[in-house]
Formats: sequence, C-alpha cells, structure tokens
Amino acid sequence: MLYPLKLKPVYKPKPWGGRTLKTRFHKKIPDGKIGESWELCCRNDGMSVVAAGKLQGKTLKELIGAYREKLVGTRVYEKYGSDFPLFFKILDAAGRLSVQVHPDDACARRSGLPHGKDEMWYVIGTKGNASLIYGLKGGTSKEQLNRAIDHHRILPLLNEVAVKPGDFFSIPAGTVHAILGGILIAEIQQNCNTTYRLYDWDRTDQNGKKRELHIPQALEAIRFGGETPQAPFPAAAKTKGGAVVRPGPKVKEFRVDEVRLDGSIENRSDPESFQVVMDLDGDGKIQYGPACDGLDAGDTVLIPSCLGKYSVSGGAKLLYTHIEQ
Ligand SMILES: [Zn+2]
Repeated sequence: MLYPLKLKPVYKPKPWGGRTLKTRFHKKIPDGKIGESWELCCRNDGMSVVAAGKLQGKTLKELIGAYREKLVGTRVYEKYGSDFPLFFKILDAAGRLSVQVHPDDACARRSGLPHGKDEMWYVIGTKGNASLIYGLKGGTSKEQLNRAIDHHRILPLLNEVAVKPGDFFSIPAGTVHAILGGILIAEIQQNCNTTYRLYDWDRTDQNGKKRELHIPQALEAIRFGGETPQAPFPAAAKTKGGAVVRPGPKVKEFRVDEVRLDGSIENRSDPESFQVVMDLDGDGKIQYGPACDGLDAGDTVLIPSCLGKYSVSGGAKLLYTHIEQ
C-alpha cells in the first residue's frame, strides 16, 4: 500500500550557495557553500530516496517501476513511462547565480536532448533589498546582446526586478534570468538541467578559474523580440476550507499553489497524476485513513495517485503542485 512519501533531499555545493538550508530548515547539509537542495529528483545525477515508513530507502525510480500509474497517475505514466516529469529544488542564493537561459523543447532536440526546460520560482525568503534578473529589456536584439557581450556591457540590457517573499515567477524556456544574492527560492521545473551560461560576473574559484560560459548556445536558445517581461505573477488569494490559497502561474502542464493553512484542508489524490506538497514553515500534519504523519519545515512529500482522501492541517504554509490538463 502506498502512502504520502517523504523524500530525502540531495544537496549540491555551489559557488553562490550558503548555509540557510541548515539555519532555516534544519537540513543536515554538508560543510561548505550549499546552494541547492534537490527535494524531488529522478535523474542520473541525483535520485530521491524515501525517508520514512515501510518503503524507506527505496529510490523513486524503483517505486515508479513497481507501482507505475498507482504512484504517478494514469495520464503521467502514459506520457512519461518510468521518467518523472518534474524536478523540485530549494535554492539558497547567498550570492548571485549566473545569468543564464534554458532551451525550449525544439532547441533542446536540435542538441540531442530529450526536452527543454520551463521553470517556476516561488520566493520563500529574502535578505535586504533582494532582486533578480527577469528577461531582457524590451526590444533587445540578438545583435545588440552579442555586441554587449563582446564589450563586457551586458548588464544594461537585463531587466532587474525587486522581489519579496510570496512572489511567483514563471520562467519560460528562452527567458534570460538570474537569481541575485540574498534569496531563498523554491524552483519547480521540467525535469531537465540544461543551462547555458551567458555571464558569470567574472567570478573565479580558489584556483583563479572561471566557470564555463555557453554563449553561442545561449544566443540560439534566447527568445528575442519581446517586450520587457512583467513580474511577479499577480497571484490573487481565495479562501478554501481552512486555508487561503494563491494559485501561481501555469507552467507547461503544472501549477503550484501557495496554501496558508489555518486549520485543515481536505484533499483527494488525482488518479491521473501525482501531487507534491512542500512544507515551508513546519507544524503541518498529513492525515490519510487512520494514519497521520508530521511535517517539518522544508519537507517535500509525494502524494501517490492511488492515495484517495487526505487532509493537511496545522499552521503551516505549503506549496502544492499538481498537473493540469
Ligand atoms: Zn534557470
């Protein structure tokens, strides 16, 4: 019998990372600058493992193989088979991430990759006056950007926007973007990690080496010719049972809602697709049948398609991800 699966994170050191995953979420991160907590991943370079219960220690790949549509849902299994379609991270951007872009499906396939990447950001917390890069300024052409790169003057062409906790951003493939310093962010995306770096702030490692840039690929992947993108996404709040829900933008086929619990919210698993609950500030509980599991801040739980009725209660703030047709 499947149950809500709490997953063990996979941690990744990054030159821009920090220690907030430990101070805020009490995650047992290794020493050093930890930038990424891969909360739900089913990939060759990182694999989620069940953290508790009778399936403890099983990998997500093994479970999809064993339970198929009972775990991921009929529609998801039919479309993706044993691949999991989404990839969940929490990023501690203590410093600035590179200015980057991800390819869309067509561009990715031209480079021999199975698909590209649209992503979604939810700002969990900020330090000071935080901001990020969200697209190019309106009307920027490929030639202009190319010239600016040659002359080390890319920054005036980038659209910088201020951010605050609770902001949602949709980042379609082809959008130039960078998370700047002092932001804790949940990043939910298509299961692809192909990133073309356009600019890395001339940063060097302890050996004086810069990270690789991918300028020709980035110029090929960027969607030029639009207006300055508007952000953040205007998520309007509505009350649902014992919760205030703010639905985020629809990104490809998935949507992420912010759910502020004040009491309990009744839910039902979807026979066509899995759901994912991330607890952002602790004190939540998931009740299903006669069983009840506590949630800690920073926990990510995969709700199997076959679970049926369940409720989430407590005073927690959640991110709830589901696939929409
Ligand atoms: Zn990105």
